[in-house]
Amino acid sequence: MVYGDAPSMNYWKLFVKNEPHERAEINHDERLIEQYLQYLTPHPASLSPKEQKEQAQAITCFGIRDWGKEPFEAGCHIWKPGILVDQSIAALASFGVADSISQRNIHICGEAYSDFQGFIEGGLRSVLTVLKHIN
Ligand SMILES: Cc1cc2nc3c(=O)[nH]c(=O)nc-3n(C[C@H](O)[C@H](O)[C@H](O)COP(=O)(O)OP(=O)(O)OC[C@H]3O[C@@H](n4cnc5c(N)ncnc54)[C@H](O)[C@@H]3O)c2cc1C
Repeated sequence: MVYGDAPSMNYWKLFVKNEPHERAEINHDERLIEQYLQYLTPHPASLSPKEQKEQAQAITCFGIRDWGKEPFEAGCHIWKPGILVDQSIAALASFGVADSISQRNIHICGEAYSDFQGFIEGGLRSVLTVLKHIN
């Protein structure tokens, strides 16, 4: 997967067609295949035309999604106002459900449930918290 933020999104957004853009556009603009290969191949110029064609044919499905467009305009994880973040993180780090509530063998981690949302730092911090609960 290729994902981009500013400024590289200014390049990719030219390939997004639908307005409003409510979902990923799958298999729409075939020029994307060539662009993805250029982007993902370490030394694209070293490939022969035959190799380039073979790589392109190996891609059977492709798509593009721009969360910056209407109707969403952005996408990020933020705790709801009023949530006690430290307590919530502690509760999610280790818990049980239903008849095995005492087992506490369900662990939720990740940037979305961290105290540093929006950055990989949050994901890593969250994992370190959860690991302390796993024997
Ligand atoms: C455009 C963009 C730019 C960013 N730029 C930066 C940056 O410059 N610096 C920075 O620090 N952070 C940046 N981030 C944020 C960073 O990418 C995230 O904080 C980080 O990837 C979160 O890691 P994670 O492991 O918590 O979650 P994720 O990376 O989202 O991993 C979750 C994984 O779970 C998988 N998954 C989901 N549901 C299921 C399921 N039901 N079954 C199995 N697997 C499932 C997903 O496919 C995914 O692989 C950026 C994010 C975006 C979108």
